[in-house]
Amino acid sequence: MSHDFDVIVAGAGIAGLTAALTTARLGRKTMVLSGDVLGGQLMSIEKVDGYPGFPEGVPGYDLCPIAQEQAMNAGAEFSQTNIESLNADGDGWKVTTGEGDMTARAIIIATGAALKHLNVPGEEKFTGKGVSHCATCDGPLLRNKVAAVIGGGDSALQEALTLAQFAAKTIVINKAPELTGQQAYRQLVEENAKIEVRNGSTVQEILGDAAVSSLRVLNGGAASDVEVNGVFVYIGLQPEAAFLDGHLSRDSTGAVPTDGAMRTSLKGICAAGMVRVGAAGRAAASAGDGTAAAISVDRYLADGVWPV
Ligand SMILES: Cc1cc2nc3c(=O)[nH]c(=O)nc-3n(C[C@H](O)[C@H](O)[C@H](O)COP(=O)(O)OP(=O)(O)OC[C@H]3O[C@@H](n4cnc5c(N)ncnc54)[C@H](O)[C@@H]3O)c2cc1C
Repeated sequence: MSHDFDVIVAGAGIAGLTAALTTARLGRKTMVLSGDVLGGQLMSIEKVDGYPGFPEGVPGYDLCPIAQEQAMNAGAEFSQTNIESLNADGDGWKVTTGEGDMTARAIIIATGAALKHLNVPGEEKFTGKGVSHCATCDGPLLRNKVAAVIGGGDSALQEALTLAQFAAKTIVINKAPELTGQQAYRQLVEENAKIEVRNGSTVQEILGDAAVSSLRVLNGGAASDVEVNGVFVYIGLQPEAAFLDGHLSRDSTGAVPTDGAMRTSLKGICAAGMVRVGAAGRAAASAGDGTAAAISVDRYLADGVWPV
């Protein structure tokens, strides 16, 4: 049975871009559905640390367009649309997208994970009016003002360091009794006179009029209002794979189970990057997953064997 493509890659973060450049280099007709953000999470990160080849770090918004160009030069096609559903179609899969249906023998799911919301009053109302998920984008608007970062892991600490370049003061509001990010970030945060850490604190409400003006914070049973002009939320990630419902069971977090070669239990379907169970949460790991998924798909296209 003939299909529109050998491989459809859903997602164009570093996992999807790397998968696509690999399948295209292997001569497989490849379509990438980029979703809303071509480049994914890295596009809003000023300094991606720990990515091989860049000892000083690299801006994500520089890295991803290079990877996309590499994939396109190898022959991958791109469509800025979402995968909405997929269904078996002969020896392959039919994918329904915002731009219509398309078919492929194999699919690589690299739809990543979205930053979780706080789900407190005011969050939705003030999104875009002080509530943000992107310190690099919105930090410059907070010159001489006060920023709050919610969370205490790597992402929260990295973004607090970015915000401290702009804001007069950055307050890290962390639910846990201690910061959980890696030691290098914790040290930089602790040494930065413009950053204050409040552990054991939870945000109850985001307050303001036309824009954010304060946060109601609970600490040790006592609530107090903290004046801030911007709120940046980094409290974890939610895998993006609801379109698999009815086809593939996912774990309690919504992540997709795979074997070590990124194969799911559905013939011809791999998952790579932050969307899969056990993702390491770093850009190089997502890129590696993308490569492994591409190799698995290439082998499957050659021999039709799917050993899960
Ligand atoms: C604040 C922050 C700082 C970080 N800093 C670092 C760092 O310094 N070093 C490091 O190694 N890692 C860092 N990370 C982690 C890194 O960003 C991720 O590990 C990596 O970007 C994940 O890549 P991914 O391709 O798996 O997913 P994502 O980057 O989430 O990409 C997902 C892609 O899927 C697309 N998509 C979503 N839904 C659909 C759909 N239905 N159909 C089609 N496409 C869809 C999106 O548009 C996007 O293109 C950081 C993360 C955050 C949040």
